[in-house]
Parts: sequence; structure tokens; C-alpha cells
Amino acid sequence: MTVKIILTEPNKILRQVSKPVERVGKEEQKLMNDMLETMYSANGIGLAAIQIGVPKRIIVMDIRKDENKREPMFFVNPVIKNKDELKSTYEEGCLSVPNQFAEIDRPKKCEVEYLDYYGEKKILKAEGLLATCIQHEMDHLEGILFIDYLSKLKKSMIIKKLSKIKSTRIVV
Ligand code: ZN
Repeated sequence: MTVKIILTEPNKILRQVSKPVERVGKEEQKLMNDMLETMYSANGIGLAAIQIGVPKRIIVMDIRKDENKREPMFFVNPVIKNKDELKSTYEEGCLSVPNQFAEIDRPKKCEVEYLDYYGEKKILKAEGLLATCIQHEMDHLEGILFIDYLSKLKKSMIIKKLSKIKSTRIVV
């Protein structure tokens, strides 16, 4: 497993719409392993393939945040089948929008159809943090970031801040 570099906003690649996976093979499984390693090393609870520059509809998640009890979840070609009318609010962050957080409303429950690590069709009934996390990650597949739900002003302030950090960052 390899830890990959996580792309950060502003970056056009993050705005791409990811493509469906035709079949889950060795290559996809290796990608999922690398994504998981990358997510854990960055202390995240979810990661979409596009965040490491791969435009495939693949997501990894582990919402437990417990180093001693890993419970990884893998989603290939996820589709939301049902959404709750009721909303829940979480303060969201994103590995591609470092150190920025904002309260976002999303449907409280949702049902997601997807292929798992072995390419088997599964259905997940998600609620609470799990529902929010999967919806956040699925947004990445459409090139959407959580800051897109904020006011124009707030969003542009965040992007400005991130651009500034990027332009002064040196890697030696
Ligand atoms: Zn994210």
C-alpha cells in the first residue's frame, strides 16, 4: 500500500466528474488499498479517488476513527436510491480543503447502492454521520466540494486563503 498525495483546492482535477468503473479487478483493489492508506495517514474518515487524482467512481471510508479497530468501507459506482426529507447538520471538513470547516445540511438518511471491494452489489442504509460522510464523498465524484454549499463570499474567502497558503508553501 502506498500513501498518495492528496490534491487540494483550488485544483481543476478536483472539479472533474469521475467515470464509472467497468469491473472491480486487481487494479481497482490496489487503488482502494492505496486510498485507504492515504486516508488513514491523513486522519480522514473518507476519501474519493479523485482526491488523489484518479477520476474513477471509487470511495473509501472508515468513520470509526479508531486506530485499534479499523472498519474500512469500500464503495464502487455508488448511487443514491433514497434520500430522507429530514436534514441533519454536521460541521464538515475535507482533506482537499485543509483546515476549513463549515456546518452543512444534508439529508439525514439515505440508501446507497454500490459494488464492494470484491465487485459484489450491496445496499447500505445510512443514517447520521455515515449518511453525511457518504454524501460528502459522493459529491467528490461529481466534482463538488462542501464549500460549494456556502455563500459566494464565504467560499471565495476560503479559496483565497487556500491559494495563499499554496503560493507560500515550499517543499524542500
Ligand atoms: Zn472531501
